[in-house]
Amino acid sequence: MSNIVLQLANVESSYGPIKAIRGVSLQVSQGQIATVLGSNGAGKTTILKTISGIIDPRKGSVHFKGADITARDPAFIVQQGLMHVPEGREVFPLLSVHDNLLMGAYTRRDRDGVARDMEQVYAYFPILKERQAQDAGLLSGGQQQMLAISRALMAQPELILLDEPSLGLSPKLTKEIFEIVVRINRERGTTILLVEQNANMALNAADYGYVLENGRIVMEDTCAHLREKEDIKEFYLGMK
Ligand code: ATP
Repeated sequence: MSNIVLQLANVESSYGPIKAIRGVSLQVSQGQIATVLGSNGAGKTTILKTISGIIDPRKGSVHFKGADITARDPAFIVQQGLMHVPEGREVFPLLSVHDNLLMGAYTRRDRDGVARDMEQVYAYFPILKERQAQDAGLLSGGQQQMLAISRALMAQPELILLDEPSLGLSPKLTKEIFEIVVRINRERGTTILLVEQNANMALNAADYGYVLENGRIVMEDTCAHLREKEDIKEFYLGMK
């Protein structure tokens, strides 16, 4: 039995004539946190959009739990247990925090389970409980990030795609969010694919990492090994 949850083989995606990713192959195992590191414009968001069906690749394939989901409808992919938390969060600004969370659970019929998961996400992020009746649009950027992750959890996904959770957040909030992401992975067994510019945070949180440059994977290894590589220290961790 393979424990590979997600597999990309030679995926190429473009915006018109612009090739954003060029033959990307990667895999994520059950229960793992994997990360794709890369600078601004490297193609990280495009990888996630291709996995979740927002962009159809020109070439290559995406398999989730052994099934080919290449270019399938995003709603179908969500139903298979794959949730995408996009860059910029995209919470429903005019709905309350509570109703945003319910939107995450809209396909579920187990009301007790939904109520239990609601309490669990409030335990992860107590500030959301305090602000549950407020419109999501009034939350700070960090709180919206917490809400976006929580809303994804309400669907009980097997795999979460997380696009730059640190974007626009203070170092303290970024640390807090990463700690919860790791807890979610350890406590719920949720597999996570995280893309980040903040290599320091990502390499500490994840088990396995890929380095993306100009749409190509140029390096991959365990995060423990990546942290020790001179190129990574110099270009991504700013240690030289
Ligand atoms: P960022 O950190 O800025 O989100 P990224 O690594 O996620 O960067 P992508 O957003 O995947 O990178 O972009 C990869 C390439 O595709 C870049 O050259 C970008 O300019 C281009 N690109 C992204 N979105 C579009 C679009 N809608 N139309 C045209 N080109 C695009």
